[in-house]
Amino acid sequence: MGILDDVVVNAKSAAEAVGKKAGQLVDASKLRITVAELNTELRHKYEALGQFVADNCREALAEDEAVAAEFAEIDELSAQLAAVSKELSDKQNKVVCPVCGKASPASAAFCSNCGTKLSADE
Ligand SMILES: [Zn+2]
Repeated sequence: MGILDDVVVNAKSAAEAVGKKAGQLVDASKLRITVAELNTELRHKYEALGQFVADNCREALAEDEAVAAEFAEIDELSAQLAAVSKELSDKQNKVVCPVCGKASPASAAFCSNCGTKLSADE
């Protein structure tokens, strides 16, 4: 094998190594994306489960002091959210549905989302 042959072989193996490295990077990127997607899906599942448990099992779980404290914080945050949403709607001349929380124009008689009567007499 001559020097030129060696150079060709070395260039070839170098190219193969770069290609292999690039392939590994692509594989790692794909895996990172898959990990992120699975993490997101898992968080959504936990969120849905937490909402379901909060909606359906509150009385049974609230006997536990730690859980009761979590529910109290959730109630406090819900109250804050309702107050800020109302303030925002007032600024935008909108009215917030007391049932589903959707904002409608102040002139609307009924909620466009759930049909609840939006009375102006508060
Ligand atoms: Zn509504």
